[in-house]
Amino acid sequence: MLFHLTGPLTNGVRGITYMNAPYRTLLVVDDEPNHVELLRRAFANKAPPTELLHASTLKEAENLMAESGERIKLILADRRLPDGDGTDLLASGRAPVIVFTAHGNQEFAVHALKKGALDYVVKSDATLLEMPLIVETALARWNDQWAREAMAQALRNSEERYSLAVMGSNDGIWDWDIQAGLFFVSARWREMFSYAGSAFPDSIDDWLSLVHPQDLAGFRTCLSSHLRSETSHFEREHRLKAGDGIYRWVLMRGLAVRNEEGTPHRMAGSLTEITERKRIEQQLEYSAFHDSLTGLYNRAIFVQRLHHRMGAWQQGTGDTFAVLFLDFDRFKFINDNMGHSAGDAFLRVMAERLRKHLREADTLARFGGDEFTILLDSVESQTEAVALAGRIHQELRAPFVLREQAIYPSVSIGLAVSGEQYSRAEDILRCADYAMYQAKALGGMRLAVSDEEAFSSSRSKLKLEHDLRRALAQNEFTLAYQPIVRLPARKIVAWECLLRWIHPGRGWMPAAEFIPLAEYIGVIPELDELALTMAARQQRHWRSGLGRSVRLTVNLSAAFFGKPGFMDIIEETVRTSGSGEPWLDLELTEGSLIQQLSIIERELPRLQSLGIGLWLDDFGTGYSSLNYLAHLPLHRLKIDRSFTAHMIDSPKDMLVVKAILSLAGSLGVPVVGEGIESALQVEKLIELKCPYGQGNYLSVPVDGEAVTETLAYLHGSLPMQVEPPICKPSLPDSRLRGDP
Ligand code: C2E
Ligand code: MG
Ligand code: MG
Repeated sequence: MLFHLTGPLTNGVRGITYMNAPYRTLLVVDDEPNHVELLRRAFANKAPPTELLHASTLKEAENLMAESGERIKLILADRRLPDGDGTDLLASGRAPVIVFTAHGNQEFAVHALKKGALDYVVKSDATLLEMPLIVETALARWNDQWAREAMAQALRNSEERYSLAVMGSNDGIWDWDIQAGLFFVSARWREMFSYAGSAFPDSIDDWLSLVHPQDLAGFRTCLSSHLRSETSHFEREHRLKAGDGIYRWVLMRGLAVRNEEGTPHRMAGSLTEITERKRIEQQLEYSAFHDSLTGLYNRAIFVQRLHHRMGAWQQGTGDTFAVLFLDFDRFKFINDNMGHSAGDAFLRVMAERLRKHLREADTLARFGGDEFTILLDSVESQTEAVALAGRIHQELRAPFVLREQAIYPSVSIGLAVSGEQYSRAEDILRCADYAMYQAKALGGMRLAVSDEEAFSSSRSKLKLEHDLRRALAQNEFTLAYQPIVRLPARKIVAWECLLRWIHPGRGWMPAAEFIPLAEYIGVIPELDELALTMAARQQRHWRSGLGRSVRLTVNLSAAFFGKPGFMDIIEETVRTSGSGEPWLDLELTEGSLIQQLSIIERELPRLQSLGIGLWLDDFGTGYSSLNYLAHLPLHRLKIDRSFTAHMIDSPKDMLVVKAILSLAGSLGVPVVGEGIESALQVEKLIELKCPYGQGNYLSVPVDGEAVTETLAYLHGSLPMQVEPPICKPSLPDSRLRGDP
């Protein structure tokens, strides 16, 4: 039977209805109609208005509950029902249940409460009439209980979320009870640091024993200052020993909890593992100070250490020290001919040899390319430094096999020892570098020591360097021309272009005085380009004035061939000269040719199509081996003037000249005897069948005007019959030698 005991009711106070007020619904499950009636009456005029639903059996009750959903706030159920026990309704969990029981059945009451009943009521007319009050209290209790449970659940949920976050973030939690000395670390941390299932660490001392000894002092200081309220929070990066014995980096953060007096009694915080971040940081730091190829220090750290060392020396707290500057001779040859990976392997072998030979305190760096620098931290004297450098030199020279090829390393070393003359770290480094450069200029494979004289010379070089850069910007250069003649007729076959600097304070300066510096500071390609431009301009001038071209040779450096677009510059030179016929040849020293062999071979067809020939300059001073040049179509070979100068009185030099002539002859390359200074030398060269000559005896280098005059005079009257000098010196000798 299903009926509504009450509809929306008035609260008994006339005129006030609860129509719109929230009212609650109770379900009465009882098969005794008079009990139900009593309940109806009991609730009829009570506030808040209550709707009573009635069911006589468990079955009816279940149907009603399914229909009413959440509306039923409480069930009042009799224990004995026609189809079962009223407490069975508890199983549905839809609403709290108050059970009616017969008087004296305590056992049942306990059983009902255990099953989860909200309350039990001994059924009597009186209790039934009091039900509104009982229901009120029970529901209030229920609501309380429910709220508490909801809060607990919310807490559980948030804790779960927190621990999930902690798990996901590689963070651990620590909590230190300062008074008890207990130290708690979360399960997550234990797991991360291989301490799962162990009670260790559980005290602050345990914890401190895990901090890396090198980080411990800093850790303690940081912790104490936070405990003393000197810092707003505790934060420290340090290494911590994991259960597997390996130290890992952690970021430990925390906050102290203090009592009213400000004394800390507890401290807690988080632990984040930062090993990977530290590894990347260390790697970045390493690569900022190390050379990736050899693993040695790089230039930046070397200079920094040198500064430091210089400072100590100047303050009298450091011993005498020395700087070595090393540069491998012919390294480019290895790179170009055996490939860059072989070049790299060579540098690694050299780096290893150097490393082995140095003391702990010395600093070895790869300065750049094939340059290495060494800071000998403490030396007794220059003699000791020289001996040490000598040993290093010796060690580096030992031949070894690289890619099945025997390599004979050759190194030039410059040495500078600390002294009063150097006021800055840069000065001593520069002097060592300059000494190295001198070692190289003397033919390489040697050690040169920078002394007082070298230092002052390096200072004047510095001044000259400054002037040279300015001269380039303001174009203070011109060309001198020196004829090359056919022997014995002395017919001019070409003119060599020689660069001259019109120095504002020093007058005319021959190339010999500034070309090495230009090479050293790296401006030589610009000078070469300038020489080509001036040669083209002069050629255009002659073409229009004389109506014909003049054969010229221009000296080019190895560096010029390393410059991108150098072929375009050469082509432009030919094009802008306005000459339809070939007029240009290039002079290269043996060293330059070998250095740039592959590039030159590659560009040979283009050079040949422009009618440009290659002249081998200063032959006899370098490798003096034509073997690897044999397949290059050399146009001329110039015997270095040192042999021409001494061949009369030195039988050995005479032999060299003869050997060169026969070697070149067998390769079909005509030879030019350079630097002829006397009639005797001319005669000797003619006797040896040297086909060409050049030198001050025949004509000093002259300016473009003088060339024009000479050519006008000679025009049509070849072969030339005049006795030397061929040209009137148009540039005073004194100027040529660069005297002020
Ligand atoms: P080089 O190409 O062997 O030029 C010959 C040098 O010997 C010239 O010196 C010339 O003035 C000098 N000379 C000629 N005949 C005699 C002689 O009978 N006795 C003596 N003692 N010397 C003689 P210069 O002009 O000072 O040039 C020196 C070097 O500078 C040249 O040697 C050449 O290698 C280089 N050079 C000159 N101009 C240029 C240039 O435009 N570019 C490059 N890269 N190098 C240049
Ligand atoms: Mg030359
Ligand atoms: Mg020469």
